[in-house]
Amino acid sequence: MKDIATAGRTKQILDKHGFKFKKSLGQNFLVDLNVIREVLDKAYISDKTGVIEVGPGIGSLTEQLAKRAQKVVAFEIDQRLIPVLDDTLSPYSNVKVINEDILKADIEAVIQTEFDGCEEVIVVANLPYYITTPILMHFLERNLSISRYYVMMQKEVGERISARPNSKAYGSLSIAIDYFTEAKVIRNVPKGVFMPPPNVDSIIVEMTARVRPKVAVDDEGVFFALTRGAFAQRRKTILNNYSMLFEEGKENKGRIEAMLKQAGVDPKRRGESLAIEDFARIYESLKSYPE
Ligand code: SAM
Repeated sequence: MKDIATAGRTKQILDKHGFKFKKSLGQNFLVDLNVIREVLDKAYISDKTGVIEVGPGIGSLTEQLAKRAQKVVAFEIDQRLIPVLDDTLSPYSNVKVINEDILKADIEAVIQTEFDGCEEVIVVANLPYYITTPILMHFLERNLSISRYYVMMQKEVGERISARPNSKAYGSLSIAIDYFTEAKVIRNVPKGVFMPPPNVDSIIVEMTARVRPKVAVDDEGVFFALTRGAFAQRRKTILNNYSMLFEEGKENKGRIEAMLKQAGVDPKRRGESLAIEDFARIYESLKSYPE
């Protein structure tokens, strides 16, 4: 039987099950084996690897993962796809499909119960683009035992995720990802490898989880609020953005200025020029600054 990730077999499967795509669920299925193989080669998947997949669709990527990995657990929100996956993945006994919204899933429990004997657990996914950031944060904020992520996403989001300071794409998302992982773009992906083709270009990003976050902060909520606040209006200085972020900031501009100076950050700089270490110093300075 032909692989699922081919245009011919995909059409056959869709016809057989009378399946109609739901745009609102970001359903664009991969029909190109070369792209999948290239990513899986980079991901060093062995028979000791456990894989979590988000959104298996009709199983295009899942099938290739099942051929290489020890075990694959795939979360699919669309109930209509469950009988399809039962059918297409029936030759693979090492796949478990869970019919659940990934944003509601207890991933930690799944890691503990499903990957016995695996040397590592990684995430591989062609993500539903409408919730790329919430999904990544759902994984990263939980301090899970996941060592690496290989994820297809909208090109513009992938560029923001992997951006460095002083670039147009750099912002609070780049910093949040840098805090938890080391991110790098693997390749751009043309629209033609999907059925149906999406409206946007795609990119595959590799994220290697850090053993511990890049900077040490004891309140991540406050730290990320500081990084987001610095980019509230990109063209404004950090001082002006923080004057809006802090309660009574307008009247207390002098105090914010002093706090930034104490952190060694020129108040006239813009958020886009500040690295994660600068924000860590601002965070420390804010903590130690007298009320
Ligand atoms: N992996 C398949 C492939 O590459 O052909 C399908 C990828 S498609 C871009 C995204 C998939 O994610 C769809 O099957 C969609 O139903 C599923 N999905 C959307 N939102 C989801 C959610 N919140 N939780 C789990 N799966 C979701």
